[in-house]
Amino acid sequence: MTERTFAPRAAYRGLAVYRNDAVPVEVDLGDNTNQFGTAPSALVTVREWTDDPSRYPTLTTAPLRQAIAEWLGVEPGQVLAGCGSNDLIDSTMRAFVDPGSTVAFAAPTFVMTAHFARSNSLRPVPVLVRPDFQPDVDAILATGAPLIYLASPNNPAATLTEAGALDRLLDRAPGLVILDEAYAEFAGVSRVGEAARRGNVLVTRTFSKAWGLAGLRVGYAVGSAALIEELEKARGPYKVNALAERAATAAVRHDRAWLAGIVAQVLEARTWLLGALRDLGLAPLESAANFVGLPVPDAPAAARHLAERGLGVRAFRNLPHVGDLLRITVGPIPIMERVTRALGELPR
Ligand code: PMP
Repeated sequence: MTERTFAPRAAYRGLAVYRNDAVPVEVDLGDNTNQFGTAPSALVTVREWTDDPSRYPTLTTAPLRQAIAEWLGVEPGQVLAGCGSNDLIDSTMRAFVDPGSTVAFAAPTFVMTAHFARSNSLRPVPVLVRPDFQPDVDAILATGAPLIYLASPNNPAATLTEAGALDRLLDRAPGLVILDEAYAEFAGVSRVGEAARRGNVLVTRTFSKAWGLAGLRVGYAVGSAALIEELEKARGPYKVNALAERAATAAVRHDRAWLAGIVAQVLEARTWLLGALRDLGLAPLESAANFVGLPVPDAPAAARHLAERGLGVRAFRNLPHVGDLLRITVGPIPIMERVTRALGELPR
């Protein structure tokens, strides 16, 4: 029998499968996950899980939505969970704009944004950040895009958008704004309450970073009940598996004090790391997240040097304003000492 091949939809031509250059290392500081642990109640739930896996999970993730809503002070109908915040960003691009429309975003940013735009037959419109890495709000608005994506803190520069600029963006956006708050816990500010009240912004957040549950793939969106209902159509049913739902629910119910302690540890280690890098004569970018951007002359070479010492970091080439950049996840100070020692060995 001859093999049959099918052409992909037009938007997929030239679209590459997402891959990254991560290699197995002793300490993975390449993906901004929690280097300090995992929400303890979630861990107990995973280890003691006895539900019948032949059954589907809850249809609407009601217990998790309820727990998140109580935590954030919004209504359960203003929350939707999914398979990582990736799933909610992807679903938003399907739910609210027609194929052929544009998605504007402050660039550089989270790489999946442009990918999801294209895989949903939308045109990504990157708008260069200013030299201080703040989004150029006027330029974003000037695109007239019916969908705007903004990550705050952003990735890879870890910049928190100034409050006044974000207000202006939300007030003047012609359509919907996705505000990606994957790292909001570390910044200590969030617009979830506002998102629930306004009709034009969806905040996406995740259990992958501060909560230490990246492997379970749970994210959520917060917005008006009307937006959330449309988003649920695009997301489809059963996107959070039963074990993940239970674990994330337990974390939100019981581990909020643990979360505050983790954030405090990350901030302490981040301050230490920034100081140690400056002591080496390097110029790390200010960070509002659990990772630090470090401009270096040759990021792939620096990443290889660190990998040889068991330390995985993400290398970016030729970014606007900074050139090559290493993105280093903040971990416990003894690990940060290893990182700075290895960086100190590099030629300058
Ligand atoms: N948004 C940003 C800005 C990110 O950096 C990431 C993860 N790297 C995500 C969203 C996706 O996270 P997840 O799908 O694990 O929730």
